[in-house]
Amino acid sequence: MASDYIVGIDLGTTNSLVAYMQDDAPVVIPGEDGLNLVPSVVALDEKNQIIVGNAARKYLIETPERAVYSVKRLMGRGVEDIQEELKLFPFQLAEDLHAGEVLRIKIGERTYTPPEISALVLRQLKRNAERFFGAPVTQAVITVPAYFNDAQRQATKDAGRIAGLNVLRLVNEPTAASLAYGLDKKTNGIIVVYDLGGGTFDISILKLHDGIFEVIATNGDTHLGGDDIDNLLIAVALDDIRGDLGLDVRRNGEAVARIRKAVIEAKIALSSQPAAKVDVDLPGGKKYQREISLEVFEQMIQPIIDRTVGPCKQALKDAGLKPEQIDEVVLVGGSTRIPKVRRLVQDLFGRVPHTDLNPDEVVALGAAVQANILGGGSEITKEMLLLDVTPLSLGIEVAGGVTDKIILRNSTVPASATQYYTTQVDGQTNVAIHVLQGERELARDCRSLARFDLKGVPPMPAGMPRIEVKFLIDANGILRVSAREQRSGQEAEIDVQPTYGLTDEQVENMLLESFDYAEEDFRQRQVIEARREADTILTALAKGKINPAWQELTSEERGNVGTLEQALVAVKDGDDYHAIREGIDALNQATMRLAELMMDTAVSTALKGKAMDDTDFEEGPRAGHPVAKADFE
Ligand code: ADP
Ligand code: MG
Repeated sequence: MASDYIVGIDLGTTNSLVAYMQDDAPVVIPGEDGLNLVPSVVALDEKNQIIVGNAARKYLIETPERAVYSVKRLMGRGVEDIQEELKLFPFQLAEDLHAGEVLRIKIGERTYTPPEISALVLRQLKRNAERFFGAPVTQAVITVPAYFNDAQRQATKDAGRIAGLNVLRLVNEPTAASLAYGLDKKTNGIIVVYDLGGGTFDISILKLHDGIFEVIATNGDTHLGGDDIDNLLIAVALDDIRGDLGLDVRRNGEAVARIRKAVIEAKIALSSQPAAKVDVDLPGGKKYQREISLEVFEQMIQPIIDRTVGPCKQALKDAGLKPEQIDEVVLVGGSTRIPKVRRLVQDLFGRVPHTDLNPDEVVALGAAVQANILGGGSEITKEMLLLDVTPLSLGIEVAGGVTDKIILRNSTVPASATQYYTTQVDGQTNVAIHVLQGERELARDCRSLARFDLKGVPPMPAGMPRIEVKFLIDANGILRVSAREQRSGQEAEIDVQPTYGLTDEQVENMLLESFDYAEEDFRQRQVIEARREADTILTALAKGKINPAWQELTSEERGNVGTLEQALVAVKDGDDYHAIREGIDALNQATMRLAELMMDTAVSTALKGKAMDDTDFEEGPRAGHPVAKADFE
């Protein structure tokens, strides 16, 4: 029987963790070794068995060609994007990679995509949780950096799927950290999340309003973190060893690995002690010993931690905020355990940062809080809001049965977007708004969420009304759609619920479908749109010919228009949208002056406020046509 637990997972660059909600507080689930952190390292042992976590670390030193770490840096990215990473990390790409292809990394003789490698880490966390609960675990919330783009988020979801996890939600890491501290229970305020991990530094500024988190600025340095401190301490030790012992061990992998282990231990000790010893056995029976005082350590790391100041100031600037306007500061990442880092943060933002929770666990704890909310929650969390990205695009149907996306898939919520439309029939007084969810090009292939009519639009020629359609998703995932005809001020509005009514399986199928059919969809959409446009221009031309403006054209102009009109009629019903488009463009060009002359009259009539005489136009159909895409904005 599957357990009911939905776990929260921090899939980190250096370390990953899994947590769950125990009664009313989130707790981290330890691995078999009793440790909470699972290093994000994957290796192949001598028997080609996959090894993950602490046990995999020794392979990084002994057989580096059979191990990989920091794979989060490669998620959802192409060969072109990762040149910088390749200079700094010993990633071994598959030899037969082409631009535009999903990356593959070599581990031993095999190659893996980044989501597959991440999936191996996730699988380990899943196993740890299953051992802990004594039951299968199949559902998870996974965190991602706030700045992750669509491809990186999708790759993370894919990793979950490959690991056999249904990823219910991706949550931004700074949001998760804020949730772990229960900051969502305050109503308003600005939260700064300062995250200094192993190899990355992220600063996020969140705005909390009525329990809703909004990321208002992010900045950072993708190559700054605890690793830099380790490397500095190693360099100092290597210098000492050369100077004092006359020994050059820089090329001795084994010796460097021992030094690394020793300096990291010293660094960690210095977060809670005034001094620490580095003690390393070297080849040839020699020993390196040194005591580092906190004072010397702080002097050494000053230039490294100072590099976080610039991104913080930039983020504040981008958010248009002064340090005095910050209400809460949250520390995330193992390196923020360093007291000097805490003081720097406190000085920068003029606030004592939250430190009650372990900074390297806080993201996973927040993911567990979110997981619990999604699972129906306890009494305590029931009131809390859901935070996420929209799993599928949202839009409306436009003329020709085509989907026009207004809020794109994976936009962070709350989100809002506005698009402008117009009518496709003269004198149309009702406009049908058909709200859709999905990735497909045609409305009939998307999920219909709601329909409503914008009524009482004053009759105007087709193309004249300016209909503003606004989509707003609040933090509950509830979509509100409103439509307003701007010239008349006529309004209609509807709540659409629930936005997240699809199961992940449905989402998956819909996404797969959209990939499978993308090409055919695209062609069909092009044909439909081209035909519709052809009809529109031909109808307009028929009307133009009985308009006094027609007589103002030269006979040559009129003749030219007639020829192009016939040419368009001839190709219009075929399936070659290129030909239809060419016909439309040619006719458009030829009728430009006629359109201008007609428009002048129409606009001046409308602006004079004279309601247009209904008899000038055929009455708009009662049910209302869907809107048409407008040229303006
Ligand atoms: P990431 O988010 O990059 O996966 P973490 O948040 O787990 O990483 O941070 C890992 C980093 O924190 C490592 O560089 C580690 O050495 C450092 N770290 C962990 N504990 C301490 C400590 N007590 N003092 C100083 N640095 C620490
Ligand atoms: Mg982290």
